[in-house]
Amino acid sequence: MKFDLHPLQHRALDMLRASLASGKRRPMLQAPTGFGKTVISAAIVEGALRKDNPVLFVVPFLSLVDQTVEKFAEQGIESVGVMQGYHPQTDAKQPVQVASVQTLMRRSLPKAGIVLIDEAHRWFDFYGKWMAMPEWADVPFVGLSATPWAKGLGKHYDDLLVPTSTKELIAEGWLSPFKVFAPSHPDLSKVRTVAGDYHEGELSEAMSNPILIADTVSTWLQLGEDRPTLCFAVDRAHARKLSDEFEAAGVPTGYVDMNTPPEERAAIGERLRNGQIKVICNVYTLTTGVDWDIRCIILNRPTKSEILFTQIIGRGLRTAEGKTECLVLDHSDTTLRLGFVDDIHHDRLDDGKRQSGKRTKREKATPLPQECKACSCLKPAGIHKCPSCGFAPERQSRIEEQQGELIQIKGGKKARKEATPHSPQEVYSMLIWIQQDRDYNQNFAKAKFMERYGNWPVGLKHEPLAPDAVFLNWLKSRQIAYAKRKQKDAKHAA
Ligand SMILES: [Zn+2]
Repeated sequence: MKFDLHPLQHRALDMLRASLASGKRRPMLQAPTGFGKTVISAAIVEGALRKDNPVLFVVPFLSLVDQTVEKFAEQGIESVGVMQGYHPQTDAKQPVQVASVQTLMRRSLPKAGIVLIDEAHRWFDFYGKWMAMPEWADVPFVGLSATPWAKGLGKHYDDLLVPTSTKELIAEGWLSPFKVFAPSHPDLSKVRTVAGDYHEGELSEAMSNPILIADTVSTWLQLGEDRPTLCFAVDRAHARKLSDEFEAAGVPTGYVDMNTPPEERAAIGERLRNGQIKVICNVYTLTTGVDWDIRCIILNRPTKSEILFTQIIGRGLRTAEGKTECLVLDHSDTTLRLGFVDDIHHDRLDDGKRQSGKRTKREKATPLPQECKACSCLKPAGIHKCPSCGFAPERQSRIEEQQGELIQIKGGKKARKEATPHSPQEVYSMLIWIQQDRDYNQNFAKAKFMERYGNWPVGLKHEPLAPDAVFLNWLKSRQIAYAKRKQKDAKHAA
């Protein structure tokens, strides 16, 4: 074996070998994002070539053909021909042929000893007809997917191989851990469900609610810590609104959708990498930001699809130098509805009878997350004390005696501000610095401290400290919230 495979990847190949040896001919291999699907595919291809079996590798879009050829070349697999129009790499004599499903539908099928179907959760009826042809009955078709949960796959594939899970990959350090906050709850009561997911137009309208848009920006300012961020919107109009709101708050923001040309997409990615922009608003496409170092995901695209949800969050789970976790700001209630992405698990393929978005009895065994009432962090069911802010539900409001004074620690939304990395002393000192620097009223620091913690800065040292970006963003978010409230009050008064 010329590939340096990790034991977990070996496990995947062993499972595949065992499945084929047991007589299965249509196995589906689940390879989560970050598991090295390319290396595993390359190892399967190499194994087939050693036995003189020609390989046909099928991708669901034309745009993935070149990427696949490039990735195979990186793995040292050069004997590749491309089936696609007048592609320069057209060479029917090569033992590995890469083709899009669209091309195959229009052509006569080449001979193959094994067929690999990439992104196999994307189903085409053509596959069903092809798999059912008698001359292909003995040829293995191996589906590859991070999310092989599409409706009806079990009618065509005969085995589901799950060599690892997102949970295991996080525990082993292959993927980044993540933390989810649910800062707002959209009203989707008037949004219809069509073909298993929300009606896009109605969803876009519901999610374009100005308060929701403003809250998205102020939450990011407050919790986002200036992280490189990918914000998922429903459609282009919605993405534009989010992007405009970020820009209006002084956050340099980029925008990407499926019509963004590859060169421009690369340039936007580069600007994110070097810090010229902080947030990229986008509408989900298969290839958006696959290689970007994303440390915060803003989810403003509610979905009932576990596939879409898992792929979106997956954009933030790549590990990187200095990255300890991915922050997920879920304004869509999707995590509350579908569970944490690393809890989504199926041990068999869908036979077409299951209703989408409904959890089966087995899956309900993993209870849904619960929201911390204090900081809106989502915690696993059954965890009492919030791992993010330390809030424990039975103490809604408690009074503590501290240095001879009564200090009330309030529950409710106020404690949410504690979810930033500063100590109360640091916060107070930075407020003093700003008070002096901007020549604010002498009560400014104390009042802001009270607003944030629900108590006065008793016993803290009165010395200034230069504020950092995280703190300034928090302060800005408070000012935006204040301005919005005033606007609303003015409207009511009018
Ligand atoms: Zn909390």
